[in-house]
Amino acid sequence: MPAEKTDAIVIRSVDWSETSLVLTLFTRDFGKVRGLAKGGRRIKGPFESALDLLGLCRIVFLRKSSDALDLLTEAKLVRRFRPAGRNLSSLYAGYYVAELLDGLTDDYDPHRELFDLADETLQALSAGEPVARWSLRFELCALRILGHLPSLDRCVECGADVPPAGRVAFGQLDGGVLCPRCREGKQQVATVSGGTLRVLAQMAQPGGQLWRRMEIESGRLGEVRGLVNRYLCNLLGHKPRLHEYLG
Ligand SMILES: [Zn+2]
Repeated sequence: MPAEKTDAIVIRSVDWSETSLVLTLFTRDFGKVRGLAKGGRRIKGPFESALDLLGLCRIVFLRKSSDALDLLTEAKLVRRFRPAGRNLSSLYAGYYVAELLDGLTDDYDPHRELFDLADETLQALSAGEPVARWSLRFELCALRILGHLPSLDRCVECGADVPPAGRVAFGQLDGGVLCPRCREGKQQVATVSGGTLRVLAQMAQPGGQLWRRMEIESGRLGEVRGLVNRYLCNLLGHKPRLHEYLG
C-alpha cells in the first residue's frame, strides 16, 4: 500500500462514527479521492481540525486496492475557507464549487488546472470578490477543462459559423449553438442573444483578465445564468442543490 502525498480541497465530509469521518477530497495530483479519517472528528485528534469543509490541506493517504476506502493518515491545514464578514452568498458559492467538483469529475481522474482554478476561486470568494462573476468563471472554465464546454460560435451539428449577433439558437441537448438549417425539428432549443454567447466565451478563456472587467448588465446576467443552469442540469442529470442560492 503506497503512501501518497498531495494537496487537497475537502469537498464533502460525512460522520462515520463517533470519532471518524469519511471525506471526499479533490486532490491536485489524483483528482477525486474518498478516504476514511480515523479520529478526524476529535479536535485534539491526529488531524487537529485540519479537515474543514472547503479548506485546503496537504495530505498523506494510503491508497487501497479494489473498492475499499483510502485511508487518510495525515492532514495539515494550509488555508481555511472563511468568507469575509461571513457573507452567505460567498459561502453558498463555495459549496457550489464543491458540488460541481464532486458531480463533474470521476475518482482518480486528475485535472491540475481544475484544482488550481478551484483553489483560486475559493480564495477570491473568501476575500469578498464578486460572487456572480467568480461563479460563472468557475463554471465555464470547469466545463472547458473537462471537455464539456458548449460550442459557442460554430453549429454543433454541421460546424458552420454561427456569428454571435442578434438571436441565436442554442440546443441544450445538442451542446451548443445551431445554424438555422440544423435547428429544424430539434428538442429543447433556446434562443439566446449574441451578447450572452460573448459573455460565456470570455468567461471560458484560459488566462486573461478581460472577464474581470467586462460589463455585464443585470438583464444579460439573468439570461446567462438561465442558460448555464439548464446546461448544467442536463449534463449532471439533476439540478444542482446550490443553484437556487446563486440568484
Ligand atoms: Zn448546422
